[in-house]
Amino acid sequence: MSKQQFQTEVSQLLQLIVHSLYSHPEIFLRELISNSSDALDKLRHLTLTDDKLKSLVGNGIDAPRIDLTLDEENKTLTISDTGIGMNEEDLVAHLGTIARSGTKNFLAQLSGDAKKDSNLIGQFGVGFYSVFMVSDKVEVLSRKAGEDKTFKWTSDGKTGFELEEATGDDARPTAGTTVLIHLNEEGAQYASGYRLQEIVKKYSNHIAFPIFLTYEKSDWNAEKKESEKSRVTEQVNAASAMWQRSRSELTDEDYKEFYKSITGDWEDPLFWFHTRAEGTLEYTTLFYIPSKAPMDLYQADYKGGIKLYVKRVFIMDDSKELLPPYLRFVRGIIDSEDLPLNVSREILQQNKVLTSIKTASVKKILSELKTIASNDPEKYAPFIAEYNRPLKEGIYGDFANRDALLDLVRFKTTKADGLTSLAEVKGRMQPDQKALYFITGGSESMLRNSPLLEIYKKKGIEVLLLDDDIDEIVFSSVPKYGDLDLKAVNSATASEDLKDETAPEKSEELKPLLEKIKAMLGDAVKDVRASSRLADSPSVIVSDEDEPSARMRQMMRAMGQ
Ligand code: ADP
Ligand code: MG
Repeated sequence: MSKQQFQTEVSQLLQLIVHSLYSHPEIFLRELISNSSDALDKLRHLTLTDDKLKSLVGNGIDAPRIDLTLDEENKTLTISDTGIGMNEEDLVAHLGTIARSGTKNFLAQLSGDAKKDSNLIGQFGVGFYSVFMVSDKVEVLSRKAGEDKTFKWTSDGKTGFELEEATGDDARPTAGTTVLIHLNEEGAQYASGYRLQEIVKKYSNHIAFPIFLTYEKSDWNAEKKESEKSRVTEQVNAASAMWQRSRSELTDEDYKEFYKSITGDWEDPLFWFHTRAEGTLEYTTLFYIPSKAPMDLYQADYKGGIKLYVKRVFIMDDSKELLPPYLRFVRGIIDSEDLPLNVSREILQQNKVLTSIKTASVKKILSELKTIASNDPEKYAPFIAEYNRPLKEGIYGDFANRDALLDLVRFKTTKADGLTSLAEVKGRMQPDQKALYFITGGSESMLRNSPLLEIYKKKGIEVLLLDDDIDEIVFSSVPKYGDLDLKAVNSATASEDLKDETAPEKSEELKPLLEKIKAMLGDAVKDVRASSRLADSPSVIVSDEDEPSARMRQMMRAMGQ
């Protein structure tokens, strides 16, 4: 037997989880069941694609199922699955260290607010450790599919863990993992069959595999007029791929519950879009918009939110190929009837079927959002509060859907209270206005006070205030909104538009003055010119149009361009 220390981050994390999630200890069950479900998904996929494992089905690999076994008297609960299992190295790597880079961010983002923090647990994949909220001793017995040794990992969740080969009764006859939990004082409330059923239904009802519960059931015996106890095994979840059911059969509650079970989010989603495509390609998609943007939205190593299934068989999640990067906040599933089961991440990039599904999915998501935006602006507002910025990335990166995205994004302007759409700004144009104008390059208050806006104010022209750091790069790439030109207020053509025809041409007259100012400023400026774009201020500094600013170049790199 070897005693090993947890990686420092693990110990730190354990402490934090136990302390920050104390008000929701029941999520430990959801986390363990989802791990079992993942393990079953992985094995099912392999038994369909790997000949060696295929031959072991029925002989070392059992039918997929999850078993919860409660020992009320001894206050133990086991969660057992017939999934992929773990060998010695896997146990050390997955349960003893935190391999994921996201976990450090997780630690940094813990807020002490239990509800918020428990959301993070699912997002950063630190789920297993939540078991130590309800236990001071956990044993994991696991046998990896295709191997014959069982290993036993034991820990108190404080300092480290012990690892040894399991023998005798502990050795598993077939592949899979058993987590044996000795419930502590906090966990004692879960030594109840009814309580466990309730929790499984709440969080894990749509897990695709059957979950059985073995417990002490009391039944009322009408003849004897007393309750009788008997040990029973019952299936406790619906175990259906809910997205395959028709929309008319499903309630809002079904959708919300499924969303929570796949994301670990506590909050209801803002919207969902459920589509079944039939025809040349057959597939089902179910997309959700979370009510809060995922924590890793602006991290380069963000996790993709879409799970890919082929004919109900889980293939992969966390793939960045399933939707374009700017829709990385969307959660949900794509289930295709036409893809091969052994589709790899590399193949996905060039797969025609998937490319078509992806193109159609993006169109679907954007058109559904447009419908909400026009029918129900109040429902749309919280969406914009979270996702305006990723949509702007789309304007820059997704040329084919640029027009749709321009209609979805919302703007601050010199005239609107709050946010407004381009269509509305267009509707408020002055009769002789030639284009839509925007200003970039600073904070909102800086922009509002810019002398460049004076002439626009004077003429009653509404100007878009683009104060987001990516606006400059995004909107310098968009020449038009529909048939209208979109122009920066400091562009030469914008000042051409606004030229006051009645004002006398003063350039000649001003030449000596301009020469003098230029000589004084020297290398600090490129040029000094007379301008008709100011109304009250004597002068303004503008940047040269053709030169992308240093900040813009930096942004381009950050966006992977
Ligand atoms: P996540 O599920 O997000 O990866 P967890 O902390 O829940 O994070 O689990 C850590 C890892 O431990 C899993 O990724 C998986 O590799 C392994 N693991 C946990 N439970 C099981 C199980 N029942 N069967 C096989 N592997 C498991
Ligand atoms: Mg997990």
